Amino acid sequence: MIDINTIKDVYKKDNAADMEEIIQKYSNTSSAELEYAKSWTGFKDLILVDKVKECNDIISFYFKDKEGKKLIKHIAGQYLPIKIKSNDDKYNNEIRTYTLSMKPNEHIYRISVKKVEGGLISSYLHDELEIGHAIEAMVPAGLFTLENNKKPVVLISAGIGITPLISMLYDAIEDKKNITFIQAVQNSKIQPFKYDIKKMEEIIKLKSYVFYSNPLEVDEKGKDYYVEGFIGKEWIENNLDLNSEFYFCGPPIFMKILNKALIELGVNRENIHFEFFGEPQSME
Ligand SMILES: Cc1cc2nc3c(=O)[nH]c(=O)nc-3n(C[C@H](O)[C@H](O)[C@H](O)COP(=O)(O)OP(=O)(O)OC[C@H]3O[C@@H](n4cnc5c(N)ncnc54)[C@H](O)[C@@H]3O)c2cc1C
Repeated sequence: MIDINTIKDVYKKDNAADMEEIIQKYSNTSSAELEYAKSWTGFKDLILVDKVKECNDIISFYFKDKEGKKLIKHIAGQYLPIKIKSNDDKYNNEIRTYTLSMKPNEHIYRISVKKVEGGLISSYLHDELEIGHAIEAMVPAGLFTLENNKKPVVLISAGIGITPLISMLYDAIEDKKNITFIQAVQNSKIQPFKYDIKKMEEIIKLKSYVFYSNPLEVDEKGKDYYVEGFIGKEWIENNLDLNSEFYFCGPPIFMKILNKALIELGVNRENIHFEFFGEPQSME
């Protein structure tokens, strides 16, 4: 059983994550527990061990197995289906899926949640879930994952759609793939994972671009962001290798524009991969 008192001291409010340090910190799962993890069926309790504000409207939640046993190592891009544990009827049977935004590992899960105005579960997680509280979760699932080949990888995100792509970035780095990472947000106030990406730039020669659609006065072009505006067809043609595997996630309008641009530029449909954070929609 996890001792809540020993984990309270790791609670951080505004600190960015160092992935290796975090995995190391939580790697004291009991040994020979992998078989237990593999037998995970239905919902099981995970306990919140850390809650970190990433930016204005996004908080990352770190969970461990309640008994301190090993978890199942997710595949980068997969999500965690979760339920809230509460006596309030309004949460009964409400299941939501949150992408694991962490480097895949067996010790600790991270989900990063944007607070949706009027949203039931995202508001509960932001406002009521505290260190030591439990949620129920199913085994990580999902098919939005990296292809197993040597092609260059282009990861493009807008807003909270960054969560599967940041996990893929950690994974692709391990594989020493040729990676381009593109993040589109409004400005620095709502830009998650700035530090994670900077850290990875230090580790490998990552090509990374930040787009701000609405920079603040304090935001410096060339330092905080690379391009003002939106990612368009011409920019893609001039800056990206069209023979790459493309992965993207963000608001539906962003995904439709991107998909159209890539197809018009001659990118093979089988090299275009995306995921919707709501009901799947037509790309037309
Ligand atoms: C594969 C997948 C992965 C995902 N990954 C992430 C992730 O990594 N991070 C993340 O933040 N999200 C992610 N999501 C989205 C997430 O699952 C939820 O949909 C999101 O958090 C909203 O849930 P909620 O319960 O807060 O909002 P809900 O209560 O479901 O509300 C959704 C919308 O309906 C509106 N609404 C609610 N009640 C009413 C009402 N009575 N009248 C009118 N409008 C109303 C809300 O304002 C809101 O706009 C993912 C979704 C999918 C499908």
